[in-house]
Amino acid sequence: MTRRFGRRQLLGAAATGALLGSQSGTARDAEVGSRREVRLEFLRPREIEEARAACSTVFQPLGTVEWHGVHNVVGVDAVKAHALCVRAAQRGGGVVSPPLYGGVGGMNEPHTFIMDPEDDVFSRLLRPWLEQLCREMARDGFKAIIILTGHYGAAQQIVVREAAVRMSRALAIPVLGTPEYWLALDEGYTGDHAAWGETSLMMHLFPETVDLTRLGDPPYKGVAGRDPKESSALDGRRLTDTIVSRLAALAQKMPTWDYETLDRFVEAEASLVAKQLAAPRGKNPVWAAWRNLNVMRDYGRWLADGEFDAIKAAVARL
Ligand SMILES: [Zn+2]
Repeated sequence: MTRRFGRRQLLGAAATGALLGSQSGTARDAEVGSRREVRLEFLRPREIEEARAACSTVFQPLGTVEWHGVHNVVGVDAVKAHALCVRAAQRGGGVVSPPLYGGVGGMNEPHTFIMDPEDDVFSRLLRPWLEQLCREMARDGFKAIIILTGHYGAAQQIVVREAAVRMSRALAIPVLGTPEYWLALDEGYTGDHAAWGETSLMMHLFPETVDLTRLGDPPYKGVAGRDPKESSALDGRRLTDTIVSRLAALAQKMPTWDYETLDRFVEAEASLVAKQLAAPRGKNPVWAAWRNLNVMRDYGRWLADGEFDAIKAAVARL
């Protein structure tokens, strides 16, 4: 994935989906099987308590407002992450917190809101916000938290996973922080910006938002990855199915993990963060730990199946 993106391109990928997400998502989510309302902001107290009693996982989708080519809306990252979390909660249980728009970095293109500098692996704004959200979710009785970022510059990914590891330890509940594409590496999606992967996901999740006819000829401004003209709703559906099934399995299992399992999970995730933070070298330091991403190919399956030792072993080869 790193090979395909310049650092600048990666950074700028933040987008969110709240504005579009709510209305479009409502109609579409109804087609997905369960019509259960899982969006926290649309639940009354009793419904939240019933949902939490059945499965005490809360999802936190992340994105930003960012240029995603002339063929995509600027909220891609957030609306995409939110829609995936909604489907996962409907399938596996739990509730979905409103998407957070704003993150680390973003493309140097119009209509992009950058809240932390692109390569800021420590983050002045996003990190404390995530920490406080986790504290509040735990205080409200949730026993597991899944933070899914649809925006994925390297620093954004590191900040999200690092905050999750630290809050898992501090709160003694599992907190997972990952970009959605890490759950579909074995489907050939290694992350991109407004290219085949993101555009295919949007063609499946929010088809009315994608207009490939606006693309013109390459090179496409502010697009990084496989040619978006190769995108299809069918590919988007395949990626969605894989990501959602793993998120649903995690939502079911995470609240039931004992402390020993929690320890193994945290240790594996912490080893990944340490590798991503320690790897810097060469011309594009913040992306150093992504150069050998194929060794993490089965990360999504390992995570959903609780094979944390396999994750740790793969991280050593990253
Ligand atoms: Zn994006």
